[in-house]
Order: sequence, then structure tokens, then C-alpha cells
Amino acid sequence: MSSRTEKSARLAIDGGTPIRDSLLPYSRHLIDEDDVAAVTEVLRSDWLTTGPKVAEFERRLADRVGTSEAVAVSSGTAALHTAMSALQIGPGDEVIVPAITFAASANCVLYRGGKPTFADVEATTLLLDPDAVEAAITARTKAIVAVDYAGQPCDYSALHTIAERNGLALVADACHALGATYHERPVGSLAELNVFSFHPVKHVASGEGGAITTADTSLAAKMRIFRNHGITTDHHERAKAGGFSYGMEELGYNYRLSDLQCALGLSQLNKLSQSIERRRAIARRYDDAFTRIPAVQSLRVRPGVGHAYHLYPVQFDLARLSVGRAQIYAALRAENIGVNVHYVPVYWHPYYQKLGYARGLCPVAEAAYDRLMSLPIFNGMCDGDDDDVINATEKVVMNYLA
Ligand SMILES: *Cc1c(COP(=O)(O)O)cnc(C)c1O
Repeated sequence: MSSRTEKSARLAIDGGTPIRDSLLPYSRHLIDEDDVAAVTEVLRSDWLTTGPKVAEFERRLADRVGTSEAVAVSSGTAALHTAMSALQIGPGDEVIVPAITFAASANCVLYRGGKPTFADVEATTLLLDPDAVEAAITARTKAIVAVDYAGQPCDYSALHTIAERNGLALVADACHALGATYHERPVGSLAELNVFSFHPVKHVASGEGGAITTADTSLAAKMRIFRNHGITTDHHERAKAGGFSYGMEELGYNYRLSDLQCALGLSQLNKLSQSIERRRAIARRYDDAFTRIPAVQSLRVRPGVGHAYHLYPVQFDLARLSVGRAQIYAALRAENIGVNVHYVPVYWHPYYQKLGYARGLCPVAEAAYDRLMSLPIFNGMCDGDDDDVINATEKVVMNYLA
């Protein structure tokens, strides 16, 4: 616990002693000897890619999220592109995307020649606002990309109703939310297509990697072709058939995930529940601390939700502080707390500005961005690391209270 002297201590940014000696990152992968052994085994096997580990990983992932199909691809971004292709998004089509997300959630629409339409988020959860989605629908709208921001599932019951009523496809960008639940149902089985990433900061790391889960076998078949150049049979099937000819039926990509990566993914999946429990325990400590520390607000968690806590964002009440977010960020960094900001509204990126998206489009997201910061949360955090985060946040906030 921080003493009164610590709270009023000189900030590291002003020459004081930092709360920690070394930087605590906002996230980090956790690799143990099981993971190393699983990858080593594949290195000694016959298949480095497109072998048995891919199918095994897909089956285990589909089982874990309670659906029938999983299609493994080379990244979460490739998974989003593959999903947009399966839905035949193309020029003239609009897809609704939340303003606050990683750029890839919207870029996948541009890859297909479609147009992302940004909808605002709810102020307290920063999740896609169903009313804003409804308001953004036009005759050209084909799909909604719902982002489970920070690891909290979106309001899927409202989004399903809107999608059905308007004949739209519902895609979950669940890159933050593997292991989360929505009214007892696992994320990964909530939308028509559900997208995951296995980047090292995500819940399951495969180095780079991604997947789409679905109950739709015909969409899954299309996506397996798309990830393999648009070729209809893979070389194992050709070998079995004794044939040499194959057909490239459409323009696809090489978005395959290797056996090496799937072996790591499989080994990491074994530890998913444990990882989520650890993240939830850290989040409970933060939740509790920020009810007592002024001018720091945690995001609201809806009832019926099992949060996966990929991120732990807070919003600073700037009216009560003498400095802005940039100064708070710098001060926390100086205390050796690796804070980060997720995310700038997508259409504020220079590329989207060049495309003509106007600032002011999503006022709730824009206001939230000014006050937003992600605190460190990951399953490999040591006991005491969470105290450092809480103490540093308190120290910085108390120094800057207006
Ligand atoms: C990580 C992430 C992606 C992209 O995943 P990669 O595997 O890095 O390509 C897409 N959307 C969201 C919301 C993400 O967090």
C-alpha cells in the first residue's frame, strides 16, 4: 500500500524516484517449457506447414468457442480480409465499423474496394452503439463489424436484431475477446463470422496468426480456398487422389498458418482459461482501486458478460486535473509504467483523412480518445506489478489534481 509520503512524492518526470526500476510493459506474451517442447516437436516432424497441426488447432479452437468450424490464417488482419471476401464485400458496398478500434477492423473493407462507415461507441463501455449502427445504415450497407473492445463482448442481442431486420451480415472482430462470454455463450459463436488474432499481445500467441470461427460450412469452405491462392484442393488431397492438376478458381492469397505456429497456438490454448482468470484478478484489483482514486474511471462492464480483459483502459476526468492526457501519459511512463492508448479514432489516421473522412463524425469516440489510456494487464504480471500500477496512477493523479 502506498503511504501518504509516496502519494505526495515528487514525480519521476520532475526528477523524483520512479515507482519501479524497470519498465512494466502494457502487455507481454507468456511462453513456458510446454510451448517450447510443442514447437520443437514440429521442427523434428515431416510437416513445417499445412500438416496435421493446422487441422488439430482448428478443431480445438472451434470446440473451445462452441462452434463447428475454424479456419486458421496468417494473422488477425488476414482473417478480417478473408471474412470480407467470404461475404463478397466489394466496390459500392458499405460496412459499419466502430470509430474506436485498431485500423485493421476497417482496412479489410478497403482491401475489397468497399467503404467503411464509422459508427460511434457508447461512452461508458466504448463498444459499438447499436443506435449509432442503426443510424449509419444506408441502402448500400452489407455488414457490421462489431469489435469486442478491451475483451468485453458487444451488445450482440441488439446487433443481431438490427442485422436481421436490415439483411446485414454480422462479423465479430473478437481479436480482444478470446475466452470471453456473453450470457453464458462463448465469444466465437456469437456472430456469423468471428475473427481472432494470435499476435503475442493477444490471449493465445502463435507468433503471428489468426482465425475465423463460424457455424456456416459453406462460408468456411470458401475461406479455406481464399487463404490458399484461390486453389480448390490442397496438395494432400491432390496426393491422395494421385493427381497433379489443380484449379485456381478465384483470386486468393497465401494466408496459410504454419504447423509451427499452430503447435504454439495449441499449447497456448491449453492455458487460456488460466490466463483469463489471472487477467480478471488484476482487473478486480484495478476496479477496486479506481473507485477510491479520484479522476480515474474504469469502463463499465455490462451484466451477463464474462470479460476477457485483453486491455484495461481507463478514462481520466480531465475537468478535475490540471494537465491533459499527454502529460499524464509521459508522467506514468517516467514512473516506468508502460501505459498505451487504444485507440485513436480510425478515421483520424492520415490515410483516412486523405480519403475524405471528416473529424467530428463520432463525437463520443473523439471525446473518449482525449481521456483514454490502457494500463498494463497480462497473464505474466508478477504479484506486486499491479500495486505498482495503482500506486503510480495515484501518485500522478494526486500531483495533478486541479
Ligand atoms: C490485433 C487486432 C487485429 C489484427 O490482428 P493481427 O493478428 O495483428 O493482424 C484486428 N483487430 C483488432 C481489434 C485487434 O486488436
